[in-house]
Amino acid sequence: MSKGKELLKKHEDDMWRCSRCSLCKFPPLAQIKSAKFYSSCCSIDYGNFHPWSGGGKLVMGFSLLLDRVKDISENMRDAILQCTMCGACDVSCKYSTNIELEEAIFDLRQYMVETIGPHPVHKKYADAAEEFHNPYGEPHEKRQEWINNTSAKSNPEAKTMFFTGCTAAYRQQDMVKASVEILNILGFKFQLSKDEHCCGSPIYRTGQVETAKKYFNHAIELFNDAGIEEVITACPGCYAMFVAEYPKYLDEEHLKMWESITFVHMTKVIEQGIRQKKIQFKKLEKNPIVTYHDPCHLGRGAEPWVPEWKGTKKKVYNQITIFDPPKEYRRGGKGVYDLPRFILDKMKTALDFVEMFRIKEYAYCCGSGGGVKAAYPEMALQTVDNRLEEADHVLEEALEGKNLEKILVSACPFCKTNFENGLEASGRNIKYKDINQLVLEMMEK
Ligand code: SF4
Ligand code: SF4
Repeated sequence: MSKGKELLKKHEDDMWRCSRCSLCKFPPLAQIKSAKFYSSCCSIDYGNFHPWSGGGKLVMGFSLLLDRVKDISENMRDAILQCTMCGACDVSCKYSTNIELEEAIFDLRQYMVETIGPHPVHKKYADAAEEFHNPYGEPHEKRQEWINNTSAKSNPEAKTMFFTGCTAAYRQQDMVKASVEILNILGFKFQLSKDEHCCGSPIYRTGQVETAKKYFNHAIELFNDAGIEEVITACPGCYAMFVAEYPKYLDEEHLKMWESITFVHMTKVIEQGIRQKKIQFKKLEKNPIVTYHDPCHLGRGAEPWVPEWKGTKKKVYNQITIFDPPKEYRRGGKGVYDLPRFILDKMKTALDFVEMFRIKEYAYCCGSGGGVKAAYPEMALQTVDNRLEEADHVLEEALEGKNLEKILVSACPFCKTNFENGLEASGRNIKYKDINQLVLEMMEK
């Protein structure tokens, strides 16, 4: 059996057990809060045909495994790749099953890359990263230049490293500038490294796993060589790679290095600053109305890694699979959801916060991840407009006709780009703010 087929074979049991119930297209019934905003999968919302859903991708994988389909056509490739790897279907499916849906979808993507190669746009990004250490093809020596426009300094003695990430370094510098200003106010000493490369996320998420692996080793060696004990990042893409994906692929030596490092997202740093009363917020006369979008990689995707299950599978009545010892599952509920909400709650002297309908592990994706923004920008725009419509709906309801500013907050450079593009395209009267920028702006200084 080819290596690619082995990837599919791993999921054969789950492929048999999929009941075609289509629950992966929606949040679990008990979690649906709106008759309008109730879908959970931006892929099926775009493709509007079963292969675009999580369950449909499982069926495609099964057909390929059984050789019922021999070749991957361009349409099939698009159905596989027009998916942001947001993981919402996995959470919904696992509400009533223990099917590892997200893993199966990811392995199908990897199988596709090994069989017909990556999407040309995704390959272009991987090639650029090979040459410039970032997928945008920007000069490597400019990666950390943004810090010059801040009051913070890199301290080579520090045991903490701030990991910028490619999108923040080259496309969304405002959010990392705000992050290091906050670190500076809180008295953090940290290093920035000139040898920082891409974390590997955009290459990995597009199924180019073999190419991505060298970025994992590079990052871990970089932290180890610099004597780093703690890595702080504002980018959920990098954060999810560090806490949930890297350990799956590291050899024993690198895994040991990984275990000696604590990975921290900026929302944790801000939460601690608030608890220590180092961050206090202004009192405003006219509070804007704010809602929060959970980035997929800070939420479902940041649920910590669970080591690969090893044991015996048993069948009961030749139907139900029992795992001995019991298997631990990632169900999306252990991502970073409470920290941004704690921060927004503490800002109530400066803003009024209202939740959207689809939140936390049931949040709807912004539409930019998994290589969608790069290869299928029209899908990214359609998806972000669905999410903006929901944001606008709850913000307008909370306004009750008052003339106040409407703000959508999130905590991810990828979401930031897509929301800003979506707002520009739709002309909706909402401001987008990254949580670091909002905190810095609303902070008493
Ligand atoms: S993947 Fe899960 S939720 Fe989707 S159709 Fe199959 S069993 Fe149902
Ligand atoms: S990962 Fe997200 S976009 Fe892809 S099939 Fe699942 S819910 Fe849909």
